[in-house]
Amino acid sequence: MNIILFGPPGAGKGTQAAKLVDEYNLPHLSTGNIFRAAIKNETPVGLKAKSFIDAGELVPDQVVVEIVAEALEEDTYSNGCIFDGFPRTVFQAESLDKILNEKGTGKAQVIALTVPEEELVRRVLSRGEGRSDDTEESLKNRLKVYQKETAPVLAYYADRGQAKIIEGTGDVNDIFARIKSALS
Ligand code: ADP
Repeated sequence: MNIILFGPPGAGKGTQAAKLVDEYNLPHLSTGNIFRAAIKNETPVGLKAKSFIDAGELVPDQVVVEIVAEALEEDTYSNGCIFDGFPRTVFQAESLDKILNEKGTGKAQVIALTVPEEELVRRVLSRGEGRSDDTEESLKNRLKVYQKETAPVLAYYADRGQAKIIEGTGDVNDIFARIKSALS
Protein backbone atom coordinates (compact mmCIF):
# COMPACT_ATOMS: atom_id res chain seq x y z
CA MET A 1 0.00 0.00 0.00
CA ASN A 2 1.20 3.49 -0.86
CA ILE A 3 -0.23 6.59 0.75
CA ILE A 4 0.61 10.15 -0.19
CA LEU A 5 -0.02 12.76 2.50
CA PHE A 6 -0.65 15.91 0.61
CA GLY A 7 -1.15 19.51 1.65
CA PRO A 8 0.43 22.92 2.14
CA PRO A 9 3.11 23.65 4.73
CA GLY A 10 1.58 23.38 8.19
CA ALA A 11 -1.27 21.11 7.09
CA GLY A 12 -0.14 18.40 9.51
CA LYS A 13 1.39 15.93 7.07
CA GLY A 14 4.24 14.96 9.39
CA THR A 15 1.95 14.50 12.41
CA GLN A 16 -0.50 12.30 10.53
CA ALA A 17 2.30 10.42 8.76
CA ALA A 18 3.66 9.29 12.14
CA LYS A 19 0.23 7.95 13.10
CA LEU A 20 -0.18 6.14 9.78
CA VAL A 21 3.24 4.54 10.18
CA ASP A 22 2.10 3.00 13.47
CA GLU A 23 -1.30 1.98 12.18
CA TYR A 24 -0.29 0.40 8.88
CA ASN A 25 3.25 -0.67 9.67
CA LEU A 26 4.59 1.10 6.62
CA PRO A 27 7.78 3.13 6.39
CA HIS A 28 7.70 6.94 6.22
CA LEU A 29 9.39 8.80 3.42
CA SER A 30 9.59 12.56 3.94
CA THR A 31 11.64 14.39 1.34
CA GLY A 32 11.86 17.38 3.69
CA ASN A 33 13.39 15.16 6.41
CA ILE A 34 15.80 13.62 3.89
CA PHE A 35 16.95 17.11 2.84
CA ARG A 36 17.27 18.37 6.42
CA ALA A 37 19.44 15.35 7.30
CA ALA A 38 21.52 15.89 4.14
CA ILE A 39 22.04 19.57 5.05
CA LYS A 40 23.05 18.65 8.59
CA ASN A 41 25.55 16.10 7.28
CA GLU A 42 26.78 18.50 4.59
CA THR A 43 26.36 15.95 1.82
CA PRO A 44 26.40 17.05 -1.86
CA VAL A 45 22.58 16.79 -1.98
CA GLY A 46 22.36 18.88 1.19
CA LEU A 47 24.63 21.56 -0.21
CA LYS A 48 22.54 21.69 -3.38
CA ALA A 49 19.22 21.82 -1.52
CA LYS A 50 19.95 24.33 1.25
CA SER A 51 19.55 27.61 -0.63
CA PHE A 52 16.29 26.47 -2.24
CA ILE A 53 14.85 25.34 1.09
CA ASP A 54 15.81 28.48 2.99
CA ALA A 55 14.23 30.63 0.29
CA GLY A 56 11.05 28.55 0.35
CA GLU A 57 11.61 27.39 -3.22
CA LEU A 58 11.30 23.81 -4.40
CA VAL A 59 14.43 21.74 -4.75
CA PRO A 60 14.79 20.95 -8.50
CA ASP A 61 12.75 17.95 -9.65
CA GLN A 62 15.76 16.05 -10.92
CA VAL A 63 17.43 16.09 -7.50
CA VAL A 64 14.22 15.12 -5.69
CA VAL A 65 13.24 12.29 -8.01
CA GLU A 66 16.73 10.84 -7.87
CA ILE A 67 16.82 10.66 -4.07
CA VAL A 68 13.32 9.18 -3.89
CA ALA A 69 14.03 6.59 -6.59
CA GLU A 70 17.21 5.64 -4.76
CA ALA A 71 15.46 5.36 -1.39
CA LEU A 72 12.68 3.21 -2.83
CA GLU A 73 15.24 0.64 -3.95
CA GLU A 74 15.77 -0.26 -0.29
CA ASP A 75 14.07 -3.39 1.05
CA THR A 76 12.34 -1.32 3.72
CA TYR A 77 10.01 0.03 1.05
CA SER A 78 9.18 -3.25 -0.63
CA ASN A 79 5.57 -3.28 0.66
CA GLY A 80 4.84 0.36 0.06
CA CYS A 81 5.28 3.61 1.86
CA ILE A 82 3.77 6.72 3.41
CA PHE A 83 4.93 9.65 1.30
CA ASP A 84 5.06 13.04 3.01
CA GLY A 85 5.99 16.18 1.06
CA PHE A 86 6.38 14.24 -2.17
CA PRO A 87 5.29 14.51 -4.96
CA ARG A 88 5.17 18.30 -5.05
CA THR A 89 5.06 18.87 -8.82
CA VAL A 90 3.21 17.11 -11.62
CA PHE A 91 6.56 15.94 -12.98
CA GLN A 92 7.33 14.30 -9.60
CA ALA A 93 3.87 12.68 -9.58
CA GLU A 94 4.41 11.22 -13.04
CA SER A 95 7.85 9.98 -12.03
CA LEU A 96 6.47 8.36 -8.88
CA ASP A 97 3.66 6.67 -10.79
CA LYS A 98 6.23 5.12 -13.12
CA ILE A 99 8.33 3.86 -10.22
CA LEU A 100 5.32 2.41 -8.35
CA ASN A 101 4.12 0.76 -11.53
CA GLU A 102 7.47 -0.94 -11.97
CA LYS A 103 7.60 -1.98 -8.32
CA GLY A 104 4.04 -3.30 -8.43
CA THR A 105 3.25 -2.12 -4.88
CA GLY A 106 -0.05 -0.60 -5.96
CA LYS A 107 -1.25 2.84 -6.93
CA ALA A 108 -0.89 5.60 -4.39
CA GLN A 109 -3.91 6.77 -2.43
CA VAL A 110 -3.71 10.50 -1.92
CA ILE A 111 -4.94 12.07 1.31
CA ALA A 112 -5.15 15.83 0.86
CA LEU A 113 -5.37 17.81 4.08
CA THR A 114 -7.13 21.18 3.83
CA VAL A 115 -6.50 23.94 6.36
CA PRO A 116 -7.34 27.65 6.01
CA GLU A 117 -4.32 29.79 5.17
CA GLU A 118 -4.38 31.90 8.36
CA GLU A 119 -4.28 28.69 10.41
CA LEU A 120 -1.32 27.39 8.34
CA VAL A 121 0.62 30.58 9.02
CA ARG A 122 -0.18 30.43 12.72
CA ARG A 123 0.90 26.78 12.98
CA VAL A 124 4.16 27.12 11.06
CA LEU A 125 5.31 30.31 12.77
CA SER A 126 4.57 28.90 16.22
CA ARG A 127 5.82 25.32 15.84
CA GLY A 128 9.26 26.20 17.20
CA GLU A 129 11.19 23.38 15.55
CA GLY A 130 13.99 25.82 14.79
CA ARG A 131 13.72 25.19 11.07
CA SER A 132 15.61 27.78 9.05
CA ASP A 133 12.69 27.94 6.58
CA ASP A 134 9.97 28.60 9.17
CA THR A 135 10.36 32.36 8.83
CA GLU A 136 7.59 34.68 7.74
CA GLU A 137 9.28 35.47 4.44
CA SER A 138 10.14 31.90 3.49
CA LEU A 139 6.69 30.68 4.50
CA LYS A 140 5.03 33.33 2.33
CA ASN A 141 6.96 32.00 -0.65
CA ARG A 142 6.27 28.36 0.25
CA LEU A 143 2.54 29.07 0.24
CA LYS A 144 2.84 30.80 -3.13
CA VAL A 145 4.88 27.94 -4.57
CA TYR A 146 2.36 25.47 -3.15
CA GLN A 147 -0.49 27.16 -5.04
CA LYS A 148 1.43 27.39 -8.28
CA GLU A 149 3.44 24.14 -8.44
CA THR A 150 1.93 21.73 -5.94
CA ALA A 151 -1.84 22.29 -6.02
CA PRO A 152 -1.94 20.92 -9.62
CA VAL A 153 -0.70 17.57 -8.26
CA LEU A 154 -4.01 17.20 -6.41
CA ALA A 155 -5.93 17.80 -9.65
CA TYR A 156 -3.68 15.23 -11.36
CA TYR A 157 -4.61 12.53 -8.81
CA ALA A 158 -8.25 13.63 -8.53
CA ASP A 159 -8.58 13.14 -12.31
CA ARG A 160 -7.37 9.58 -11.80
CA GLY A 161 -9.78 8.92 -8.92
CA GLN A 162 -6.91 8.54 -6.45
CA ALA A 163 -7.51 11.53 -4.16
CA LYS A 164 -9.56 12.10 -1.01
CA ILE A 165 -9.91 15.51 0.58
CA ILE A 166 -9.87 15.59 4.38
CA GLU A 167 -10.46 18.55 6.65
CA GLY A 168 -7.19 19.08 8.49
CA THR A 169 -8.49 21.21 11.37
CA GLY A 170 -9.64 20.13 14.80
CA ASP A 171 -8.36 17.39 17.08
CA VAL A 172 -5.36 15.43 15.75
CA ASN A 173 -7.04 12.10 16.54
CA ASP A 174 -10.28 13.13 14.86
CA ILE A 175 -8.34 14.05 11.73
CA PHE A 176 -6.62 10.67 11.86
CA ALA A 177 -9.98 8.90 12.15
CA ARG A 178 -11.17 10.76 9.03
CA ILE A 179 -8.04 9.68 7.17
CA LYS A 180 -8.46 6.04 8.17
CA SER A 181 -12.05 5.94 7.01
CA ALA A 182 -11.02 7.49 3.68
CA LEU A 183 -8.39 4.82 3.04
CA SER A 184 -9.43 1.61 1.39
P1 ADP B 1 6.59 21.83 4.63
O1 ADP B 1 5.48 20.94 4.18
O2 ADP B 1 6.33 22.46 5.97
O3 ADP B 1 6.96 22.87 3.60
P2 ADP B 1 8.73 19.86 4.11
O4 ADP B 1 9.64 19.31 5.13
O5 ADP B 1 7.85 18.92 3.39
O6 ADP B 1 7.90 20.98 4.88
O7 ADP B 1 9.59 20.66 3.01
C1 ADP B 1 10.53 21.65 3.35
C2 ADP B 1 11.23 22.18 2.10
O8 ADP B 1 12.01 21.11 1.50
C3 ADP B 1 10.33 22.66 0.95
O9 ADP B 1 9.94 24.02 1.11
C4 ADP B 1 11.24 22.47 -0.26
O10 ADP B 1 12.20 23.48 -0.38
C5 ADP B 1 11.99 21.18 0.07
N1 ADP B 1 11.27 19.98 -0.45
C6 ADP B 1 10.73 18.97 0.30
N2 ADP B 1 10.13 18.06 -0.49
C7 ADP B 1 10.28 18.52 -1.77
C8 ADP B 1 9.86 18.03 -3.03
N3 ADP B 1 9.16 16.90 -3.14
N4 ADP B 1 10.18 18.75 -4.13
C9 ADP B 1 10.89 19.89 -4.03
N5 ADP B 1 11.32 20.41 -2.88
C10 ADP B 1 11.01 19.73 -1.75
